Amino acid sequence: MSMDLCPHCKTRVTIRTSRELSDLTREKYFQCPNIFCGTTGKILSTVVHTIVPSLNPNPKVFLPQSRARDIPQDTRQLDLLQT
Ligand SMILES: [Zn+2]
Repeated sequence: MSMDLCPHCKTRVTIRTSRELSDLTREKYFQCPNIFCGTTGKILSTVVHTIVPSLNPNPKVFLPQSRARDIPQDTRQLDLLQT
């Protein structure tokens, strides 16, 4: 099931066919199921960064690592590396 939305009416679209353009990019042809819209078109989906690294990485793929969210600090915790 696609999570892509129609750019006109925001209905979840149906992917009719897709093909791989590269290891990181797919081209998908969609159709809007809303009978009052019915548009068709093409979507490009590209993976842009890694959140959690793969346990089975493809050596041909390079994806930058996104920055981890800052962990909230407990103000009651003493700083062990205080200078
Ligand atoms: Zn639509």
